[in-house]
Amino acid sequence: MNVLVLNCGSSSIKYQLLDMSETPEVKAKGLVERIGLETGDLCHKNDKGEKYESKQPVPNHTVGIKLVLEALIDKNHGVISSLDEIKAVGHRVAHGGEHFKESVRLDADAIAKIESICDLAPLHNPAHLLGMRAILDVLPQVPQAAVFDTSFHQTMPASSYMYPLPYRMYEQYKIRRYGFHGTSHKFVAEKACDILGWNIAEKKIITCHLGNGASITAVKYGKSVDTSMGFTPVEGVMMGTRTGDLDLGALLFIMEKENLSVSQANSFINKNCGVNGVSEISSDMRDLEAESEKGNERAILTLDMYAHRIKKYIGSYAAVMNGVDLIVMTGGIGENSCHTRKLVFSDMDYLGIKFDFELNKGLRGKDETLSLPDSKVKIMTITTDEELVIATDTKKLVFG
Ligand code: ADP
Repeated sequence: MNVLVLNCGSSSIKYQLLDMSETPEVKAKGLVERIGLETGDLCHKNDKGEKYESKQPVPNHTVGIKLVLEALIDKNHGVISSLDEIKAVGHRVAHGGEHFKESVRLDADAIAKIESICDLAPLHNPAHLLGMRAILDVLPQVPQAAVFDTSFHQTMPASSYMYPLPYRMYEQYKIRRYGFHGTSHKFVAEKACDILGWNIAEKKIITCHLGNGASITAVKYGKSVDTSMGFTPVEGVMMGTRTGDLDLGALLFIMEKENLSVSQANSFINKNCGVNGVSEISSDMRDLEAESEKGNERAILTLDMYAHRIKKYIGSYAAVMNGVDLIVMTGGIGENSCHTRKLVFSDMDYLGIKFDFELNKGLRGKDETLSLPDSKVKIMTITTDEELVIATDTKKLVFG
């Protein structure tokens, strides 16, 4: 049973076709980029590892989706013989606002609700809607579902999600903390508990999703009770190009000094700061680690800041939950950066952490326990798989 997973951005469509019959299997994946520009790119990879690339104008998402479907049924590099083999489509949706506490099968009402919160995610939700409408256009008989980055965090208590702003701002504009990466936080917390043979409903877990975007979540008894991203994905730990937590006064000061408009300031805090901004080297951890090994002081400072800010969240979430049983590292950096993990878990014995520094060395992209057997708190790396969650939820919603 094939489920097509789509992640539609304003000028791109990321996709995976998964066979969800028994053991889930990725049959094909790829990316359409530069939608709306003069020439668009399609990059498609099938389950034999064969790559197919093409360039042509892709004026809109409907044309982009048609290209994806053609690639999937192509005689040479395709993986299915007809579009009838696609039984459902699952969309990653960035923002579900307060409407969606879980994934949903798409109907006119769900689409209207996603549309009604476009101003909370102006870059993302309109693009997801384009993808949904393109599927309605091209595959009208195929059921669709939406899986939200925010829904796992809808269990946060008001004391976590409210900002210290006048209350009317919440009532009038729905300004509150929503959190993101929920699909990943939920998946890795559950997977770690499965591996350990633990009942998630009895455990206190801190999940660290560290990719280009990064967030940390306190998962108490299976529910998100706090998370580091807020109203937007700018809040929280330091990221590849986003600031993370910053004194609001500093931003106002910079806007005044550099004469930045609101949209320039928005672009600045999202694209020019974080690891890239401090290091002035790169936003990619691999480049920074290579430079720090050569003794580059700015790279060393950046990596130290990055780990310091993660440590602060771990400490505060242990306080929020009155303890912690397990810390999970995931995302490109959490899964692969031994250096970041070493810095984060050094000098954490006050929490009862005994980290296996030897096993940590060179450990990449694996599900592994990185704490010593007598550590009070377990540390694990877990590989995340957001597309699998989307396909699983979609299958459940469509076929029960
Ligand atoms: P995205 O948020 O775009 O999905 P990823 O989860 O793929 O991001 O993570 C990207 C980050 O992972 C980059 O900063 C990259 O440098 C880092 N990364 C990937 N492999 C390694 C590695 N072997 N060592 C250190 N960092 C790595």
